[in-house]
Amino acid sequence: MARVVLKPRKAKPFFGRHPWVLSTAVARVDGALLDGDAADLVTHEGNFVARGLYNSRSRIRMRLFTWDRGEELDELFWRTRLERAVVLRSLLGYDSAAGAARVVFSEGDGLSGLIVDRYGPYVVVQPTSLGMGLRLPMLVPALVQLLAPKGVLVRCDEAMARAEGIELAEGPFWGSPPEGPVEIEEHGLRFAVDLMSGHKTGFYLDQRENRHRAARFFAGRRVLDMFCYTGGFSVHAAAAGAREVLGVDSSRKAVELAEANAARNGLRQARFACGSCFETMESMRDQGETFEGVVLDPPKFARGGRTLDESLRAYHYLNRLGVELLAPGGILVTCSCSGHVSRHDFQQMLLGVAQQTRREIQILEQHGAAPDHPTSATCAESEYLKCFICRVC
Ligand code: SAH
Repeated sequence: MARVVLKPRKAKPFFGRHPWVLSTAVARVDGALLDGDAADLVTHEGNFVARGLYNSRSRIRMRLFTWDRGEELDELFWRTRLERAVVLRSLLGYDSAAGAARVVFSEGDGLSGLIVDRYGPYVVVQPTSLGMGLRLPMLVPALVQLLAPKGVLVRCDEAMARAEGIELAEGPFWGSPPEGPVEIEEHGLRFAVDLMSGHKTGFYLDQRENRHRAARFFAGRRVLDMFCYTGGFSVHAAAAGAREVLGVDSSRKAVELAEANAARNGLRQARFACGSCFETMESMRDQGETFEGVVLDPPKFARGGRTLDESLRAYHYLNRLGVELLAPGGILVTCSCSGHVSRHDFQQMLLGVAQQTRREIQILEQHGAAPDHPTSATCAESEYLKCFICRVC
């Protein structure tokens, strides 16, 4: 087996079972190794550390999967890992035929570089590494055996494809593809999901429990759902008895799907508008509009090479506008899916907002992603979502 040799004194994190070997830690490769191949990671002195998949084109030069020297990264290995992931979703009760769930969450499931979501009878596979992309012809049949879907589709994130050097055809991969949007059930509500052109693999499954938790605070209230996408928080809020819900998103297509999702659940008190967050919120504030509930679920503020400080400033301004739109006693549900913004940073940001707006912000609940997005204790990067439910007086 070819060996990836670490630079001197670089082995500690990998003995500590972190799965990403960055290019900066690697001294050289001994032996013939193609991108996507399995290889051993060894210390500078040549001692075995772990086994993983190599990719010379990625900043993550190697992704580690086993620290057991006797374990080969063969078909049986991958099948066993997939099975372990599927069993977890059953344990969580996320296996109802009509529901949706993340079946494989990359590092969180010991499968760095692979995302698998199930939407009712369809499975969407999103490789986020070259190694997993190349193994699709072996992984998909294993998933078919475990999940018995009607069809399997492949999605490929463009930025990720560039970073990893994967070229993958998006679209149906196995079985029969769905003819239109797929309807799924979440906490008794129904949503149509566009598996081929929706964001991510079609739906923000990570917010599943938070949508449900937030909704119970909204009965009788007028709620603003900023960054509503296809209406997740809005539909839950309206179903929980919100008096009026306004969902806003910059994507026209998302707003149309949100309207359809509210109608699908017979909820007439939710309406939707296309708009950009800052302008929309500023103009509502200037017109003296108020809400008794505000949900802020922005996309990653890290995009466009923002530094941590710049992202925090963007979160600060967004949350400040949210607080300014809230009547006293209003509920603020504020989220961040930027992994580089820690829970502590996020709470500090809220501290600044409370000070500047001279409002009391009481944090009632703090949540993360739904448990089908497990956090690996040895890969802090697998924790990313923060969702705080607060009262603002
Ligand atoms: N809350 C949603 C998920 C939101 S994802 C749910 O539960 O399903 C973030 C959303 O922000 C995306 O739908 C994206 O279209 C939207 N968005 C991105 N930039 C925006 C901006 N500047 N103003 C308003 N919406 C924006």
